Amino acid sequence: MSNLTFGIIKPDAVRAGKQGAIIQRILDAGFGIRGMKLIHQTRKQAEGFYVVHAGKGFFDELCDFMSSGPCVVMALEKDGAVKAWRDLMGATNPAEAAEGTLRKEFATSIGENAVHGSDSEENAQIEIAYFFSKLELV
Ligand code: ATP
Ligand code: MG
Repeated sequence: MSNLTFGIIKPDAVRAGKQGAIIQRILDAGFGIRGMKLIHQTRKQAEGFYVVHAGKGFFDELCDFMSSGPCVVMALEKDGAVKAWRDLMGATNPAEAAEGTLRKEFATSIGENAVHGSDSEENAQIEIAYFFSKLELV
């Protein structure tokens, strides 16, 4: 699965009706979409997903936000997918995100920053498996 990464179109972007525009940008950037679904995470699911951030000051806010509405979870395929997807997303804080990145265009704050991407191939596999069964990857 080394050509795969995991992405989320976060609840702020879905609420703003930007999921279609973001998916178009993903396709235009040459990613294949191997899995995609709309889900509304429970608080517990969000806590489990972001367990590496447990104990940090922003953890409660992050889990509240990620369970605040529907989001789109995706398994994305491309050579060097992890880096390519993080490059397309841009910096965590939209104020620091480069022109042409998704967070520059669609994020409103460091907390509500439109998209998520795995930070390593190892985490990509863990995160894909958190939301998709093998049968759901085409
Ligand atoms: P993500 O994991 O969502 O792709 P990231 O890898 O760029 O983002 P992380 O350091 O993993 O950034 O932080 C996870 C998420 O937690 C961020 O996307 C952001 O929504 C939130 N977050 C991080 N730092 C802060 C902060 N200082 N204040 C509020 N929210 C934060
Ligand atoms: Mg991260």
